[in-house]
Order: sequence, then C-alpha cells, then structure tokens
Amino acid sequence: MKEALLISACFLGRRCKYDGGSNLLPRELLDRLAAHYRLIPVCPETAGGLPIPREPSERRDGGVRARDGADVTAAYERGAQTALKLCERFGCRKALLKERSPSCGSGVIYDGTFSHTLVSGDGWTAEKLRAHGVVLYGESTAESLLDNDNDVGATLVVARAVKKM
Ligand code: SF4
Repeated sequence: MKEALLISACFLGRRCKYDGGSNLLPRELLDRLAAHYRLIPVCPETAGGLPIPREPSERRDGGVRARDGADVTAAYERGAQTALKLCERFGCRKALLKERSPSCGSGVIYDGTFSHTLVSGDGWTAEKLRAHGVVLYGESTAESLLDNDNDVGATLVVARAVKKM
C-alpha cells in the first residue's frame, strides 16, 4: 500500500483560495506524487467553515485575523483539527502544504500587517501538524518527497531483469 501524504487541496486544482483560485501544481509533478503516495487533500480554511471567496487573513497576536479585522481564529482551529484527524485516520507522516499561507505555510508566513512582509513561523494548521510529528514540505521542497524516484526505477529494472533470468 502506498504511503499517505496530506496535501493542500489547492495544489490539486481545487479552487479554495481566498480569492476563488487554486495553486495547481504542474501535472508532471502531481503524476509523480500520485505514483508514490496516496494523496489526502485538505483545505483547512474551508474545512473550518470559511467561505469562498473570503477576506485574506494573517496570523497576528496569537490568533488569525482577516484583513477587515474579523477574528477568524476559531475557524482556523477547526480546520487544523480536521487536518490532524485526516493524518491520524490515514496515517500521514508527511504533508505537502502551500508555502506562506496563514494555514498551510511552514517556516515562513506573512507578519499580520498585510504588507507582504514575511517572518519566520508556521501557519495555524502547519504548526499543529508539526507539533504532532508530521514532516512538512512546500512547493519549493516537493521534489525531495520523490528523492527515491531513481532508486525505485532502478529497483524495478533490476527486478524485471532478475525475473527474466
Ligand atoms: S488553506 Fe491551504 S489548502 Fe486551503 S486554499 Fe489556503 S493554502 Fe490552499
């Protein structure tokens, strides 16, 4: 059975971004990921009850605020719990999440001033997943999820060759 990989739903083309768009990854990369992993999509923000489209939000003061000032922390927390439950249900030990998102971003996010300023930190869901031992990847590190591509290919070639002997 393939290893399960939690993945931001917008990477698969789901139009769940705040502006109604997606973050579709290149077809070739998605095909290779799907060959190696059972892809488990989640959009924490919509899973938490937020609509499409919606105000953009950023982490601030220990919570998450929409650009219009609304406190959306509770919705972000519901989404994070959904993502965690999916990881537990499907046994995901890795997650491929959209970088810089206030939910999905890992390592670097916007600073809460809506001025395109980046700071160190995780999105709300990413932080929860990391705390539960899930290893986080983003679009710039997705290739490292496939580092064994060549090994797998070589193993298959060797296996076929052995079978013919
Ligand atoms: S919450 Fe995550 S999955 Fe949903 S649109 Fe934002 S980056 Fe994509």
